[in-house]
Amino acid sequence: MSKKGIRDLAPDTLRGSRVLVRVDYNVPIEAGSVADDTRIRATLPTLKYLTDNGARVVLVSHLGRPKGKRREDMSMAPAAARLAELIDEPVQFVPDVVGADARDAVERLQPGQVVVLENVRFEAGEEENERKLSEALASLADIYVNDAFGSAHRAHASTTGVAEVMKRSGRPATAGLLMERELRFLGGALDNPERPFVAILGGAKISGKIDVIENLLPRVDHLLIGGAMANTFFRALGLETGKSLVEADRVEMAHTLLERAGEKIVLPVDCVVAGEAKAGARTWLLGRDEVPPEGSILDIGPKSVATFRDFVERARTILWNGPMGLFEIDDFAEGTTGVARAVADATAKGATTIVGGGDTAAAVEAAGLADAVSHVSTGGGASLEFLEGRPLPGVAILDEGDPS
Ligand code: ADP
Ligand code: MG
Repeated sequence: MSKKGIRDLAPDTLRGSRVLVRVDYNVPIEAGSVADDTRIRATLPTLKYLTDNGARVVLVSHLGRPKGKRREDMSMAPAAARLAELIDEPVQFVPDVVGADARDAVERLQPGQVVVLENVRFEAGEEENERKLSEALASLADIYVNDAFGSAHRAHASTTGVAEVMKRSGRPATAGLLMERELRFLGGALDNPERPFVAILGGAKISGKIDVIENLLPRVDHLLIGGAMANTFFRALGLETGKSLVEADRVEMAHTLLERAGEKIVLPVDCVVAGEAKAGARTWLLGRDEVPPEGSILDIGPKSVATFRDFVERARTILWNGPMGLFEIDDFAEGTTGVARAVADATAKGATTIVGGGDTAAAVEAAGLADAVSHVSTGGGASLEFLEGRPLPGVAILDEGDPS
């Protein structure tokens, strides 16, 4: 069932209305300014739609973990300033969440104007999903919009509590355009993928992603596994993994998965091995059965990239989560970059390609290929939970769309 979106609201409903938008402006702040504005830019389509239609837009987000206390280093002020630069319009910032200052600022807001409230986690009631805070937030709004996919796995006052209050009083609780886009791409891949559907998983650990593997395995045609995650599978095959990162307590599970999945799981055939995980270390390119006891596997090798590319080239839907190696160090980034290029090439040939996971998104960005894939998910933890097949509370609570 799809959720009601802001385009499903009659435009004259928006004109002059106070629209409270939960955004995910949990951005890195360095020396008092926004170091990476990806998450802010991702909300611009929603904000443009709302302001173009004459809404009075009130933005609320969390930033960091202030644990219910005011922390100047976690203020939303830099995010508001960056937003003003991006839309080239004044954006008002009010250093208050639901108090008199916030209410005054919202009352004075004119159609088409935007105000950013202070960090909602300065309020202890946010993470406790406190009723009082939810009602105070709802009192600032005629319409609620959730555009914070990255926070939708948390049942907090600004994500679920406020939506509940809105619905109970007959006011709309809708999905923003970014939220819709995330659900369309991630949900489409899970529920109705064009085939062949290939998933690529990597990163540091199996343990954190076991539920993702379980949920994806019956849905995909091929599951390509790289990164340190592959090491645990190597061990399950009885291979020497030297000093590589291995989750010893998951070897048995990896063994079971391999038996169950048969040919569906594709593992690297070669790897980049080094004595130390540091830049400029001496490296060896070895077959996966040639790793010495003193070596660490830090990237997939070129034969593996070529194998993965074969599967990727034939796929119509590709979902990628988790880097292929210790990509933060250039010496071990080639596997990840090679896979990123293959995914970008498949996109150019018409495949639907989705990248999820904070580190994977950073790697694709660093390779300059973020615009060359269909969708880069803005939700780290939220996209993982979604891929595990778990309902996200911040999504579940929103109004259903009209059946069509
Ligand atoms: P994402 O954030 O995209 O979900 P993860 O957080 O699961 O990804 O994993 C990313 C981390 O895994 C990166 O820091 C990367 O360096 C590490 N990693 C991947 N492969 C290896 C490897 N072979 N050895 C050590 N670390 C690895
Ligand atoms: Mg990560």
